[in-house]
Amino acid sequence: MTSTVQSPTSTYERLISHARELALLRSTESLLEWDDRTKLPPAGGPYRAEQVSYLAGFIHRHQTAPQVGEWLAELADGPLAADSHSDTGAVIRNLKRDYDKKTKLPQALVEELAKIRTLGQQVWAEARKANDFARFLPLLERTIELKRQEAAALGYDDVPYDALLDEYEPGEKTANVRRVLAELREQLVPLVQAIVESGQRPNLEILKRSFPVAAQDTFGRRAAELIGFDFTAGRLDTTDHPFCTTNGPRDVRLTTRYFERFLPSALFSTLHEAGHGIYEQGLPAENFGLPTGEAVSLGIHESQSRMWENLVGRSRAFWEHLYPEAQRSFSESLADVPLDDFYFAINDARPSLIRVEADEATYNLHIMVRFELEQALLEDDLRVADLPAAWRAKYREYLGIEPPDDADGVLQDVHWSAGLIGYFPTYSLGNLYASQLFEQAQQVLGDLPAMFRRGEFQPLRDWLRQHLHQHGRRYSPPELIERITGQPLSHDALMRHLRNKFTPLYGLA
Ligand code: ZN
Repeated sequence: MTSTVQSPTSTYERLISHARELALLRSTESLLEWDDRTKLPPAGGPYRAEQVSYLAGFIHRHQTAPQVGEWLAELADGPLAADSHSDTGAVIRNLKRDYDKKTKLPQALVEELAKIRTLGQQVWAEARKANDFARFLPLLERTIELKRQEAAALGYDDVPYDALLDEYEPGEKTANVRRVLAELREQLVPLVQAIVESGQRPNLEILKRSFPVAAQDTFGRRAAELIGFDFTAGRLDTTDHPFCTTNGPRDVRLTTRYFERFLPSALFSTLHEAGHGIYEQGLPAENFGLPTGEAVSLGIHESQSRMWENLVGRSRAFWEHLYPEAQRSFSESLADVPLDDFYFAINDARPSLIRVEADEATYNLHIMVRFELEQALLEDDLRVADLPAAWRAKYREYLGIEPPDDADGVLQDVHWSAGLIGYFPTYSLGNLYASQLFEQAQQVLGDLPAMFRRGEFQPLRDWLRQHLHQHGRRYSPPELIERITGQPLSHDALMRHLRNKFTPLYGLA
């Protein structure tokens, strides 16, 4: 990166140069974390925790240097910031927001959070394997305590959760998310009930036949490429808990996990992570490290993954195009299976235990469980030791089922072990945004399913790139959605999509 060797003259140029230097450090940190979750031998864990903790502290010191605060104070009142949506205005506004947040956190807290995050994930993986929540308990207790300190240091108007949510979804409020999810739940629960009571069931056995891992890998890459993920600037590897990360402007990493006897797991997680990757690849590379080259929020990020995974990847039109190829790739298992049976099976909807395997209809109920429990933990309405029991009770209440053990219950997600509290609701925001964006794309571009049937995915990808990806953080998430769709966040588009899909599939009235 050349910016570090230029000798910037204006205050704005100094700020930009500093931001690009930070990007070098942050992308290096992100590569270490990618390695931790894909390649690192278990014995290398403790030293990796030291490395990440050291680097995080170093980055924090750089980010919070008093000089940066002086530059930002000078620029915030100047002409370059006058229009907060201009190239320079968006950069200054967002860097100031980030700086103000970072300078509120004590150095010791930042370093301990980074260390416990890495150790926590290792302990969590062991605890999950051993189905032993007690092994994870002390670390989670410490994590919750540190997140409370973080919320207090950041400050909030209403509840501590607001401070943490704002990290992932700038400007979003706990009360608003509660309201939207309550509206969604009111319509979702009867729909799920109607599906259960319909007595209709796809034949799931066809997805549990033999699907050799090598063939799944080839097919998954082909599907990701088809929807527009660029493998010359990206990779796909395996991990325990699929994710997507960016280690440079032309280095976007997807991960998945393969089960030979269950096709949908890797297939749809690959489409999901490729959706994240397509967003990252659509950000302006020349602005890498600047707010105008960064994703705006987790909710918007998730809207991109959900769109490609669900609205495209689980549509009948998509499989009208790709199913013949799937039959050739998995001929032993799919040659005798009609498209309609396959389509019904990949859209099986029913209450289940594992969030990442959940269907479109019940997924948001899994989120509501986590959203409510983590608020209770943070506000000390729930002791961490009582979490497994509270988890089971919520699953009974919302989904009508209960996990037989903690490995498939409270220990199933990596998030809390990584210190990610306030993160879960962004998945539901993503589902809501995805449906709103897809409806708008359909209105502007015309018959999207007809395009998918012909294998044409570029019009949708280009539309997203033009209206959403290229802006980076120029607009806040609510501004962006209003600009693109003319509507604020709402549950209506998602419910319309779910009804349109599941009514005919399950023969509902
Ligand atoms: Zn995602």
